[in-house]
Amino acid sequence: MLTNYHTHTFRCQHANGTVEDYVREAIAKGFDILGMSDHVPYPHYEFGYRMPMAEIWDYIYEVEDAQKKFGKQLQILLGFESEYLCAKRSYYEELLEGYQVEYLVLGQHFFDYGGSFKSSYALKDSAECVRYAKSVAEGLSTGYFSLLAHPDIVGVNCLSWDRNMDEMTDIILEAAMRYDVPLEVNANGIRRGTIHDKELGRHYMYPHFKFWEKAAAAKVPTVISSDCHMPSLLYDADVLRTRQFAEEMGINIIENITIK
Ligand SMILES: [Zn+2]
Ligand SMILES: [Zn+2]
Repeated sequence: MLTNYHTHTFRCQHANGTVEDYVREAIAKGFDILGMSDHVPYPHYEFGYRMPMAEIWDYIYEVEDAQKKFGKQLQILLGFESEYLCAKRSYYEELLEGYQVEYLVLGQHFFDYGGSFKSSYALKDSAECVRYAKSVAEGLSTGYFSLLAHPDIVGVNCLSWDRNMDEMTDIILEAAMRYDVPLEVNANGIRRGTIHDKELGRHYMYPHFKFWEKAAAAKVPTVISSDCHMPSLLYDADVLRTRQFAEEMGINIIENITIK
């Protein structure tokens, strides 16, 4: 069974391809399920490159048109990748109930931080990773999210692995199990290549093997995601490398997720 629940489109302003382009690629590669999960727009706050709020219905209609046109060939799901920000709680409800979005992927690119927002890509010390993890756990506790994207995204900050990093991992794994939300090993991390670390040697920034050692031991259900920003990356060599990484780590790989 071939699935991908993490797919972007040209609307986010840093990807190529329409919904139909991804669907055609998915059909060509023999996919069973394609989840569209472009970056969610926010009504009152812009977080940089993503679709403007004015395009939200265009995106929704685009996915629904593809469902009508290609629904016999594969299952297409209407979703968004979204941060969990406490102040936007009612908005996530509106997405699921008002806009009838089928699923939300939690991608915690930003998190609440002392009345403001912190970028998960710009963390200076490992204590901030613990705060990232707490915000992820809070997001998962809401029940809005069907999948946790790149739980180890803070690996891009290349901080050394210490007790805080273990604590971050434990908080996320515990929340994923308690609230029954699968994790994702993310091929975009593999696409970023490896770094060399004095203590850990050569490794991917993410998927970070230290995180996944613990996730594998805890047997947390995990999907492989392409996180593709170009149709040709939906099922490329890096997706295969991601699966190989997951298999070698002994991760509990699942192919499909339960939509909340
Ligand atoms: Zn993106
Ligand atoms: Zn993401």
